Amino acid sequence: MRSVEPEVFLVARPKVDYDAMAAYLREVGGERWLERLDRGELGHDAQDLAEFAGKTCYRSWEPGLNPNVRKVRDDQAAYLQNILKQAHGSVLEHASFTFVLHNVSRIFTHEVVRHRPGTAVSQESLRFVRLEELPFWFPEWAREDAELMKRATALLTELEQFQLWLAGHFGLDDDETKMHEKKHKTSFMRRFAPEGVATGLVWTANIRTLRHTIEARTDPGAEEEIRLVFNKIGELMRAEAPALFGDYTVTDGTWIPSWRKV
Ligand SMILES: Cc1cc2nc3c(=O)[nH]c(=O)nc-3n(C[C@H](O)[C@H](O)[C@H](O)COP(=O)(O)OP(=O)(O)OC[C@H]3O[C@@H](n4cnc5c(N)ncnc54)[C@H](O)[C@@H]3O)c2cc1C
Repeated sequence: MRSVEPEVFLVARPKVDYDAMAAYLREVGGERWLERLDRGELGHDAQDLAEFAGKTCYRSWEPGLNPNVRKVRDDQAAYLQNILKQAHGSVLEHASFTFVLHNVSRIFTHEVVRHRPGTAVSQESLRFVRLEELPFWFPEWAREDAELMKRATALLTELEQFQLWLAGHFGLDDDETKMHEKKHKTSFMRRFAPEGVATGLVWTANIRTLRHTIEARTDPGAEEEIRLVFNKIGELMRAEAPALFGDYTVTDGTWIPSWRKV
């Protein structure tokens, strides 16, 4: 048994092509909007993309381009706050972030895949990846319980030894064992791993989905591992896009947004 901690790696984020945006804005007469980039008022790619998408809707790059629009919000934070307030969340779907959720249990992965719109998932396959040791996360309160740890460690060690025995029994390391046979038996063997075995997935979500999942999965009623992971995701997103994640009040690991369900 190897004791592990759930970890979050933010591995991809949106990258705006400002030249292409400028070319489009020249077409519609909205170049002035992008001048804010030189003044340092733009430059957060995800936020810029959301504002760009929103301003495209009303052609509100500057007053008068759309005769119905007499004034526009030039301050990005105020503009995006209004998007959240108006629940105009579809513009937030353009920006997606990709995370590796590492050393998370199968309990966690079962729960996170329940979130469907705006997500993409690639999960470590325990049909292919053979378990030898059993990586396992213990919450701090469990680590402090010596008797619990003694019994849990003994149980996990026995399960580990059974995995090794099965691999030998099935001859999985024999040169002549074909991949389809390894896959068949590895899939059988994972049935003897606990739900708490640490594994991982690549999880992509757009900002609209991130806002919803951070709120739902840090709720006091949510499972403790998923709360831990979504607290980390919340912290990362608040640093990445403060104008889109700065409205949460965080109390004891519970993230409550000022604007819910955008
Ligand atoms: C604290 C907690 C406890 C839970 N307990 C259980 C449990 O005991 N058993 C269990 O099975 N699950 C449980 N779940 C999972 C829960 O029921 C949801 O499946 C999961 O949280 C996904 O969230 P969501 O329904 O908001 O959907 P998401 O897939 O995250 O979708 C986001 C939003 O899009 C809209 N949407 C998505 N799909 C549809 C659709 N098909 N039709 C209409 N609107 C849609 C909804 O407004 C939805 O809220 C729990 C979740 C939490 C947070």
